[in-house]
Amino acid sequence: MGPMSTVPTIELNDGHTIPQLGFGVFQIPPEETAEAVGRALEVGYRHVDTAQMYGNEREVGEAVRASGLDRADMFVTTKLSNSDHRPADAREAFERSLSRLGSDYVDLFLIHWPLPMLFDGDYVSTWKTLEELQAEGRARSIGVSNFQVGHLERLATDCDVVPAVNQIELHPYFQNEEVRRYGEAHGIATQAWSPIAQGEVLDDPAIGEIAERVGRSPAQVVLRWHIQRGSIVFPKSTTPARIEENFALFDFELEPEDVARLDALDRGEAGRTGPHPDRFDLVPS
Ligand code: NDP
Repeated sequence: MGPMSTVPTIELNDGHTIPQLGFGVFQIPPEETAEAVGRALEVGYRHVDTAQMYGNEREVGEAVRASGLDRADMFVTTKLSNSDHRPADAREAFERSLSRLGSDYVDLFLIHWPLPMLFDGDYVSTWKTLEELQAEGRARSIGVSNFQVGHLERLATDCDVVPAVNQIELHPYFQNEEVRRYGEAHGIATQAWSPIAQGEVLDDPAIGEIAERVGRSPAQVVLRWHIQRGSIVFPKSTTPARIEENFALFDFELEPEDVARLDALDRGEAGRTGPHPDRFDLVPS
């Protein structure tokens, strides 16, 4: 395979490595998931990001097994459902994930949302359960998602293991700099969810201008910007041509001035598309 298929890896704070580019399956209906993941694996993706709440872990597992790839060559992430933060529930939910995925471990298990207003805001006891799952070797790496600096500081004070990653909303219009910088300073890798803002940033004139000049699509320009800033990304698509397009990021580079132009598109809080983690206390439907 040529240089296009060479995905760099990021070393996590626990010594494991993760491919910097993966495939996201949020909002892919279960009946379409095995085909989409199968296509991604053919293209060369070796990292899949799912969640208990996405309802498609079983189909992710099926696609991985059907690919004939060695499980050791795959990186699979799943995330704890918002309804299962209590330690005993978290453990049982994790067991169900392994069974749906058809594997005796996951590469990365995340607390999906901190839910600071539910269960007395006790994501600390939830995190201690993830620490146990890691000690048992069944979650090789553990991390969090949608954690703000305050939530991370509470883990730092009350727990032993520093999360390997924090998966947060991050794209040119919402760069989440405070949280990203905290991660950088504390050895927590940043995973950027909705890296192209579900398509919303692709009509931006500055991005269009750069794309035209470098002879790439707007999505490739934005994904390449993430890569050069060191974030981990897993764009979602069920369109075969886009699955390929989003993988072709490693045979070109953005000049520093283009990176700076993308940096300048940040709209701060106004650019956020998802719920605010401090206020999000509901189990989504
Ligand atoms: P993305 O930013 O990846 O955008 C996906 C959308 O963009 C789809 O509508 C897709 O359309 C379209 N698209 C994909 N590639 C292209 C392209 N090259 N050109 C034009 N349009 C394109 O959004 P997601 O919200 O799915 O984020 C990615 C992943 O991040 C998720 O799948 C999930 O794994 C994770 N995530 C995590 C969250 C969390 O709370 N931890 C929250 C949200 C996401 P189509 O499929 O029709 O091709």
